[in-house]
Amino acid sequence: MSSAIWWVRQDLRLADNPALSAAARGGRPIAAVYVLDEAAAGAWAWGGAQRWWLHHALASLATDLGRLGVPLVLRRGSAAAHLAEISAALGGAEIHAAAAYEPWARMQEQAVGAILHRSRTLTDPEAVRTGTGGPYGVYSPFMRAVRAAGITARPLPAPSRLVAAPAPASDRLEDWLLLPTKPDWAGGLRAAFAPGEANAAAALADFLDGPAAGYAEGRDIPGRVTTSRLSPYLHWGEISPLQVWHAAEAATLPANARDKVLNEVLWREFAVHLLWHHQALPETPLRAQFANMPWRTDAAALRAWQRGETGIPMVDAGMRELWQTGWMHNRVRMIVASFLVKHLLLPWQLGEAWFWDTLVDGDLAANAASWQWVAGCGADAAPYFRVFNPVLQGEKFDPDGAYVRRFVPELAALPDRCIHQPWTAPALVLEAAGVRLGKTYPHPIIGLDEGRTRALAAYKTITANAA
Ligand SMILES: Cc1cc2nc3c(=O)[nH]c(=O)nc-3n(C[C@H](O)[C@H](O)[C@H](O)COP(=O)(O)OP(=O)(O)OC[C@H]3O[C@@H](n4cnc5c(N)ncnc54)[C@H](O)[C@@H]3O)c2cc1C
Repeated sequence: MSSAIWWVRQDLRLADNPALSAAARGGRPIAAVYVLDEAAAGAWAWGGAQRWWLHHALASLATDLGRLGVPLVLRRGSAAAHLAEISAALGGAEIHAAAAYEPWARMQEQAVGAILHRSRTLTDPEAVRTGTGGPYGVYSPFMRAVRAAGITARPLPAPSRLVAAPAPASDRLEDWLLLPTKPDWAGGLRAAFAPGEANAAAALADFLDGPAAGYAEGRDIPGRVTTSRLSPYLHWGEISPLQVWHAAEAATLPANARDKVLNEVLWREFAVHLLWHHQALPETPLRAQFANMPWRTDAAALRAWQRGETGIPMVDAGMRELWQTGWMHNRVRMIVASFLVKHLLLPWQLGEAWFWDTLVDGDLAANAASWQWVAGCGADAAPYFRVFNPVLQGEKFDPDGAYVRRFVPELAALPDRCIHQPWTAPALVLEAAGVRLGKTYPHPIIGLDEGRTRALAAYKTITANAA
């Protein structure tokens, strides 16, 4: 029997893996091949935090595959060239792969000529169409259409037995230097996450057995664990959206909680839909007038934002959570993003690039769609003139300051009433809490009213131009 290749991409799992199952159908011998093709990805090559995750995810997959007697072959360079060589060595082996949605990865799969299987999304972004045959630009009708059509596919079981093809030569994972060395900044990532398919399944089960029941009310509270934290596992394909969907449907949950969870999974789906139909989404505003936005250039402000030193506690807590753990709560992502593009009037692409480098779940579709959404230039976007006030957001969603205290420990001893705006605290209160503004914690780098007014004035120039 001829062999087949499972071209391993962002589907780093054995269960519910149609590409693997198709390659191995009927006991066909397989080679499992992962190719690190950084040149193909160009500007969107994996960021630092993603490289850390990828290393561990590949190590974990190699162990799982090894138990079934199949080595994971690692190659670096052109995917088309390596796969063609391996296929030829195996006598013209078929290549099966999970279909991608990133523009560079779609070009890559055309060059490889693989047989594609759709498993990174629940739906085919090409097939979901509005009544007039176009793509969706607004989330709610998209969500309703997907839910009305129903998700009928069932997750595939993991193969219990695999047959290995003659093993092609492989790189050593350590030689790829995906992990940080000097300095090793990944300690916080290791403490927060454990990559791997088994850990993804455990995270899903823990969520559905615990926080999911209160998801409808609690999901916006960053100081408690109220969401699934599945995003990196979904991003790397250590769990499939179909597995998450069916597990959430089958779980014993209040109806409103289940609905919310399913609808969040469809936000991910919607982001893919947008990227599929707007391939320039990561670089170019969907609303063309935003190309003329008078963004500022301010390296010092950008740096303060990146380091969590803006003097606005909720923003700083979020940016430090990101830097320390490689992840940030969704509510806080919205707050820090709004602060960057509105109060600081810096281009959303700078925030998108920083997230790309620091998030373990940095996803081309979700990241670009979300940044455009917050910046007001995306499909279905929050209007630019609605400016989040990070103090009010903090008081509403972190009322006891637990989140700020955790990530901005120098403010921990402040009372709840001023934890989100230390500059309003009386001198004695600051002193008692050991806070010296401008010394132990910065003054705000921008007044919130001043930033808001400047943002609205800038926005007015592009709306006036458009009229
Ligand atoms: C500026 C900004 C940038 C973002 N960048 C990314 C990114 O690079 N990668 C990424 O996966 N998500 C991104 N998000 C979306 C969202 O913040 C994360 O998916 C979510 O915080 C992940 O946490 P969770 O797994 O606990 O989510 P849950 O609340 O448990 O949701 C379950 C799953 O639904 C999906 N999901 C939830 N909310 C969204 C959303 N708004 N958009 C798309 N998918 C969603 C995720 O896959 C998530 O794992 C971004 C949001 C903002 C505002």
